[in-house]
Amino acid sequence: KPLVIAIDGPSGTGKSSVSKAVAKHLGLSYLDTGAMYRALAWSCVASAIDLDDAESVAQHARTFDLRMGMDPAAPSVGVGDRLIDREIRQDAVTSVVSRVATNLDVRANMKQRQRDLIAEGSAARGGCVAEGRDITTVVAPDAPVRILMTASEEARMSRRSRQLRVAAESTRSQIVDRDRTDSTVSQFTTAADGVVTIDTSHIDFRQSVEAVLQVVKE
Ligand code: C5P
Repeated sequence: KPLVIAIDGPSGTGKSSVSKAVAKHLGLSYLDTGAMYRALAWSCVASAIDLDDAESVAQHARTFDLRMGMDPAAPSVGVGDRLIDREIRQDAVTSVVSRVATNLDVRANMKQRQRDLIAEGSAARGGCVAEGRDITTVVAPDAPVRILMTASEEARMSRRSRQLRVAAESTRSQIVDRDRTDSTVSQFTTAADGVVTIDTSHIDFRQSVEAVLQVVKE
């Protein structure tokens, strides 16, 4: 049976870098599902689709040519032949991604794509670390390892502002806004049954990786 490791949590918990490191360490594939929603948001904007037009956004989600590279040493995101790894991290995308992610038809399509990618990645490397917001509950509820990464608001804000190299205050309102929108479709404060919570508020990156590897061993 493939070793699927599902990791959920909000931004600023170290989730992405820890997931990548765990995948590398164990030789597994790596899937960043947040990047998929970001790619959709980018592609909608690039195709001049009205983000308020839920049906057009859902239609685009079903048809756009999303390509996820799942090597944890060099993960990549593309639409068609165009690589958009840098583009999807820009403010123009971050500020609108929640709007496409709250579309239920979009989520249904993403769930299927993510299940297919996890199966494909597992076939290639014996397992897959998949991270996001609803992986432990919706996308891979049967995964043998399911983890919720949390952190205090303070710890999350300081990690995010360090990442983005901008003032903590503007980051705070951005994250709070995005969390509020995101929480309409997922919830991170309490872990679902059988999900192990790792609080990263007071541990560093290495310790977070160790904590995940410890859960995998058990
Ligand atoms: O993790 P990241 O910040 O890249 O995620 C970007 C956005 O994608 C989140 O703010 C959320 O709106 C959405 N998302 C989601 N479900 C997931 C992963 C991400 O709705 N599994």
